[in-house]
Amino acid sequence: MTAADAIRIAENAGIQVTLDGDSLVLAAAVKPPAEVIEILALNKAAIVDLLRGANGGFAIEDWRELFDERAGIAEFEGGLPREQAEVQAFCHCVEDWLDSNSVRSSAGCCAFCGRSQGQLREYSYGNSARASSEVLLHHECSRAWHQQREEKAMEALKLLLHTH
Ligand SMILES: [Zn+2]
Repeated sequence: MTAADAIRIAENAGIQVTLDGDSLVLAAAVKPPAEVIEILALNKAAIVDLLRGANGGFAIEDWRELFDERAGIAEFEGGLPREQAEVQAFCHCVEDWLDSNSVRSSAGCCAFCGRSQGQLREYSYGNSARASSEVLLHHECSRAWHQQREEKAMEALKLLLHTH
């Protein structure tokens, strides 16, 4: 089970999971089932990581607002059907998420495989309009690294935005 699965199970049980520092805060209208609490407890560290990454300095509401605003613009000003407008807005949010969740390579090591041997190159990523970030990667690791980051961004945003 991934942290995302655990949060989804909690949400299906009517529990809202948010983060306060290093603690998970649960809000529910009715007493949550014990097995759901146990699932959350077992996956706590991963959930905290995910929510922290998902926030990326923005509050969850900010992400939803940003997404709605962009989807609205694409729909009404861009003339796209709602579904396509949402896909476009989602892609924009993925880019922003990657920007706001920048990572650094540990000194002299590949950000993907962690090894320092071989030829490492600097890769910049993120939206160049803002401060872009740089990581060190092997050429052969760069594709997998970018893909992994993108998947993480999409997983986090799907949770935040409740899209599927
Ligand atoms: Zn590597």
